[in-house]
Amino acid sequence: MRLSRYFLPVLRETPKEAEIVSHQLMLRAGLVKQASAGIYSWLPLGLKVLKKIESIVREEQNRAGAVELLMPTIQSADLWRQSGRYEAYGKEMLRIQDRHEREMLFGPTAEEVITAIFRDFVKSYKDLPKNLYNIQWKFRDEIRPRFGVMRGREFLMKDAYSFDLTPEGARDAYNRMFVAYLRTFARLGLKSVPMKADTGPIGGDLSHEFIILADTGESQVFCHKDLIDGAIPAPDTDFDGDLSGIVKTWTSLYAATEEMHDAARFAADVPQDKQVSARGIEVGHIFYFGTKYAEPMGARVQGPDGSMITLQMGSYGIGVSRLVGAIIEACHDKAGIVWPVPVAPFEAAIVNLKAGDADTDKACADLYGKLQAAGIDVLLDDTDERAGAKFSTMDLIGLPYQVVVGPKGVKAGEVEIKHRKSGEKETLSPDAAVERVVALVKGQRVLV
Ligand code: ATP
Ligand code: MG
Repeated sequence: MRLSRYFLPVLRETPKEAEIVSHQLMLRAGLVKQASAGIYSWLPLGLKVLKKIESIVREEQNRAGAVELLMPTIQSADLWRQSGRYEAYGKEMLRIQDRHEREMLFGPTAEEVITAIFRDFVKSYKDLPKNLYNIQWKFRDEIRPRFGVMRGREFLMKDAYSFDLTPEGARDAYNRMFVAYLRTFARLGLKSVPMKADTGPIGGDLSHEFIILADTGESQVFCHKDLIDGAIPAPDTDFDGDLSGIVKTWTSLYAATEEMHDAARFAADVPQDKQVSARGIEVGHIFYFGTKYAEPMGARVQGPDGSMITLQMGSYGIGVSRLVGAIIEACHDKAGIVWPVPVAPFEAAIVNLKAGDADTDKACADLYGKLQAAGIDVLLDDTDERAGAKFSTMDLIGLPYQVVVGPKGVKAGEVEIKHRKSGEKETLSPDAAVERVVALVKGQRVLV
């Protein structure tokens, strides 16, 4: 992409309304624009990041055996009356009337829709187990939308739903999502920690929130330091075998959200120098809830002995749009965003320091063609801004590698690569620079 043709409205000033750094940087780097409270337009650069996160989430869901479908954003109130949640849900639900005065709503989640789909199509235990998911916009009329896309009202969520015949089967489904989440967040360049979470009225111990530590996080959490230090690696698995061992390793060390925190156990189980009490951002939440929806909605299948069995279900959410903010909270410095390669809106940039100078333009065009041919997603700054402004925009938008091309260097047969994260600079011939950027980028696209 040539910057001269792109749409990148960067702001030099920090907008006053933004309280936390990720929100400030998202506005300044031209990723989003607020449309109304908690509702955002995704500008081209922000949309690219959102789509990259979405594809990583999708790849890992598919790898874990979940199957993608797409459910509507607008749902009928009647469906929610079947589960008994319509009145109970409260003011977070945006209720809408259509022209026939039928009661509709903008889905805050989709347990009811998916349970009805399953109930109406699946009649036999032979069709189990299944896990169905979608990546769809949700609306929750949050009392206090804030921190930009981190707590929006309209937000993009991946929500998966598992269906099993037995509680043991449901536990396996839960474990698959548990491991899929560890892999997903690792691929996004994040250190996530699964923490015991409140299961609400259902009880039981099968709920975990996946938390990214950040001072600006809304959740208070307590955990064993080894979970954060990477003493336990992200699992590399094909999902065919038994995952309970991996889950056990991860859950054997203390990690709990505030609601589930047990101060006495924390003190007894975790050595003092390993006790971490910190703020965190919830990026995912997995939940086993048995027959909570299947029972009232009549979702049953015929079991092996002919008797009707109510389905065991779980649900598994990831805040796809929240992750854009969460990644920036974890990956930024004074100058701006520092994108991990897998989610960077462009993997590399070429900065033309003298647009209009024939030799420099030609050198840039050549690099641009070669990087593209090598499969690198590259942004060419071919505008006639001052060098200083170009550098600060590049640092602000945080592309991992900047290839800087100026007339002097071109004469000497040299360009410079700047590594956004370390600040390190290398001077190389143009062809060597292409090779180097390709190697650096490709080396970081795969699972860490
Ligand atoms: P929270 O406690 O932050 O309100 P929740 O428990 O209501 O979250 P879930 O219903 O489990 O969230 O939704 C799944 C995921 O969707 C969450 O883990 C979070 O990442 C994301 N999410 C929830 N609410 C919002 C929101 N208002 N804005 C952006 N993302 C959200
Ligand atoms: Mg909520």
